[in-house]
Parts: sequence; C-alpha cells; structure tokens
Amino acid sequence: MNIVFLGAPGAGKGTQATKVCERMSIPHISTGDILRANIKSGTALGVQAKSFIDKGLLVPDELVIALVEDRLAQQDCAKGYALDGFPRTIEQAEALSKFATIDLAVNIAVDEDIVVDRIAGRRMCKCGESFHTSWYHSDKCDKCGSPLYQRDDDKEETVKARLEVYNKQTAPLIDFYNKQGVLKNVDGMQEMTKVFDDIMEIINDKH
Ligand code: AMP
Repeated sequence: MNIVFLGAPGAGKGTQATKVCERMSIPHISTGDILRANIKSGTALGVQAKSFIDKGLLVPDELVIALVEDRLAQQDCAKGYALDGFPRTIEQAEALSKFATIDLAVNIAVDEDIVVDRIAGRRMCKCGESFHTSWYHSDKCDKCGSPLYQRDDDKEETVKARLEVYNKQTAPLIDFYNKQGVLKNVDGMQEMTKVFDDIMEIINDKH
C-alpha cells in the first residue's frame, strides 16, 4: 500500500508515519529528513535547500519531485511506502500521480493554536526518534542514548511562517485527495497511541 501523510507542521505526521512503517515493514520517506541529511553532508541539493528551509519556505518543487521520483524507484519501495511531508503543493501531487499510485491519504487534523506549542517543545534525536518536553524529561534519547536537539526551523517565528505556507500551499491537498476518493481524516488532538490505533484501523480496512 502506498500512503501519503498530510497535516500541518506539528500534527504528528513524522511520529505516526514512523510507527506505521515499523508496523507494516515499509519504508518511511520523509522529504524533510532527506533534505536535512543533504544539508548535513553538504551536497549541492543541501546547499540549495538550506536557504528555503531556514526561512520556513518550501524548497522548489522541481528539486523535491526529482528527489522523490528517484527514491520511489528504489527496490525497497516495490511493496509499498509511506510519504511524510510530500506532496506539499498541488504541483507536487500532480507530478507524483504520474509516477506513483496513492492508495490512501491520511490527514492528521489538529487545531492550529496548539501546533506552535507542540513544535516549540519538540526535541529530536539523530536516530530519527522525536520527543516532547511535556512528557519526556531527559535530554538524551531513550532508544540510542544520543543527546537530543531542537530543529533550527522549530523556532517560533519560523513555525508561524511554516503554518502560513501550509495553509496556502499544502492544505488544498486535502481536497485534491478527497476528490480522488482516497482521503481519510484522523483526529490528531487525541493521545498519540489513539491516533496510531485510528490510522491502523483505516489501513486494515483498506487491505
Ligand atoms: P518537515 O520535516 O517535513 O517539516 O520539512 C522541513 C522543511 O523542509 C520544510 O519546512 C520545507 O522547507 C522543506 N520541505 C520538506 N518537504 C518538502 C516538500 N515536499 N516540498 C518543499 N519543501 C519541503
């Protein structure tokens, strides 16, 4: 099954996509993670992407589309995958439809007011785990022991810019996938475990 995760920044897309992919043994493809890895290793793509990411803006469509097309062509995607953070514009969704078939789009719906708080308390680990200061009180990852850090673009001003970008450019995808008959909404204001259960129920119903 090929799944797309939709939702505002801070909706919990990354956390839920990670768990769903673990459960289903399919690759978790996060364009944000791939772009950050490119920035870290100093590739040409990373250099181009950094100035957009730092401002909370979207990286140009052609760069991310090429990146995803390449990734989906890899062997491990043959039995399904979950996309997290892609597509983010109608142009990206249209391009994606030319090289992939999306079976399910899970929209994790949250109130915007809580998103800024959620993101401000978010702490990441280099192993891919993420935590929140409201329930996690250590500065080290409980999975691998590495020190946790805050993403540069999780600062309040950048989060506001990212929300604006989401509303203008990404929210229209809800309608796009609804019209294709593959959209399912999940209440992202519930506890994380309940959100996960709801998503797995939708996936199992589809199987
Ligand atoms: P994320 O980790 O998904 O929140 O992505 C972090 C940042 O990476 C975003 O704010 C964008 O600047 C950039 N980015 C990630 N995915 C995309 C995409 N599909 N299109 C354009 N920019 C993206």
